[in-house]
Amino acid sequence: MSYIIVKFGGSNLKKQSDILQILKAVKHYKQPLIIVVSAFYGVTDRLEELFKNKASGKSISDDFLKDLQQIKSEIAALHCTNPERMKEFQTGLTSLFIALENLFEKVGDTEYLQNELHDSILAYGERLSAFLLHFILTQHNLKNSQALPEEFGLITDGEFGNSTVNIEASASSLKNFFTEKDHIYVVPGFYGISPSGSVNLLGRGGSDYTASAIAACLQATSVDLWKDVQGFCTADPKIIQDAASISNLSYAEAAELAYFGSKIIHPRAIEPVSDKGIPVRIFHLHQAAESFRPQTIINGLSPVAAERIKSVAYSDHFGILALEGEGVGLKPGVLGRASTALEKAGINIKSVFTSQTAINFLLDLADLEKAQNAIAERNLSGIHSIETKKDVSLIAAVGLGINETFGIAARLFTAAARSRVNIQTIVFGASKVAMYFIVAREDRNITIQQIHNEFFINKLEIIPLLTETNYKSQN
Ligand code: ASP
Ligand code: MG
Repeated sequence: MSYIIVKFGGSNLKKQSDILQILKAVKHYKQPLIIVVSAFYGVTDRLEELFKNKASGKSISDDFLKDLQQIKSEIAALHCTNPERMKEFQTGLTSLFIALENLFEKVGDTEYLQNELHDSILAYGERLSAFLLHFILTQHNLKNSQALPEEFGLITDGEFGNSTVNIEASASSLKNFFTEKDHIYVVPGFYGISPSGSVNLLGRGGSDYTASAIAACLQATSVDLWKDVQGFCTADPKIIQDAASISNLSYAEAAELAYFGSKIIHPRAIEPVSDKGIPVRIFHLHQAAESFRPQTIINGLSPVAAERIKSVAYSDHFGILALEGEGVGLKPGVLGRASTALEKAGINIKSVFTSQTAINFLLDLADLEKAQNAIAERNLSGIHSIETKKDVSLIAAVGLGINETFGIAARLFTAAARSRVNIQTIVFGASKVAMYFIVAREDRNITIQQIHNEFFINKLEIIPLLTETNYKSQN
């Protein structure tokens, strides 16, 4: 027996009409399900804000928690006319809120581990969603139960805030736990449990990762991520009006696009399922609840786009640290010493490119200043200027086979040149499925538009449908 792991995100949990769509979608599946839920829209942000305020010594009002409890009750009441059942629901809900308030009491108190409190508090957004959805499904005669990560043993590496699921350590207990056929389990996403039993968050947006980690442990049939977006697109539809959904992506292509902050899925959601060949399907809740047609399917058998490029993505979260001096790019040891200085400062180097007179590090924007100081402190010989460039965007053209196809780089440059955009750097060859380059932030949109025109406009048929003949296995 095999489960489908179905995840509903925060953007699917805003209002009563969303819940009705979720019910429609759930009834469609004719297979045992594990449903992973996020917090209601905006709830995690508010819990985070309350935590920060309390931690910094401010007094916090409990208005938000009172309102939240009220909203949960009102939604539950829309699905239940039995006063006894409603009373049971209220009792359970109240005890969840009491536990949450008790955690808040300890914030700022040095006797308690604050990281642990932080993660435990933020996980309540998801716990409340699971509790409510379990109740609603029951009222609609759908046989289901809640299953909490601490019960079924979703084991992490122990890092607070952004932990990694240990699939090997979790798999056997999950297999023992999830055994019922003809059943739906409702799981709160976004957290796992450390080997010593603490709640560990899986990073913001982590419910996608919960779903794929569970799928990997159980060798599920598929991971279905329900969202309020058109799946992955040929470009960000907020910038490019003509952007179209992409029907098929390979794991590597999706991972590359997710890394680019396309915000469609959590950047780590692909990792647990890719080597197991479990497909990830992305559905639009308000379009697919009836038709059941996914927007994007990610698997190991994705067709190669005729033009090689499937999407042009971007990120503004990068910056450049430029070290200049005569011959720095050629003198042995300079690059090594600079990298060591950055590593010692705990800075992750995304990429590096050198020339005769300069070494450029591509870094996370948030690390830029710290990196500049770390290098400056070391007084490295031969370097006479250390500069940072913040107003840049990293653009990625993503598609399987891109680096093996003659002429793609030339077409990218030509497209950018059409609007006189100066490509500052091109990073080529590091990934089999992506080509990156850096432009000034102000040139970002026009560059994307030109590349999108070059590769996609009037050419949407280039994304072939999945057929036996155009399958290309990645492995
Ligand atoms: N609620 C969490 C967040 O907002 C996790 C998630 O939405 O997947 O980051
Ligand atoms: Mg979310």
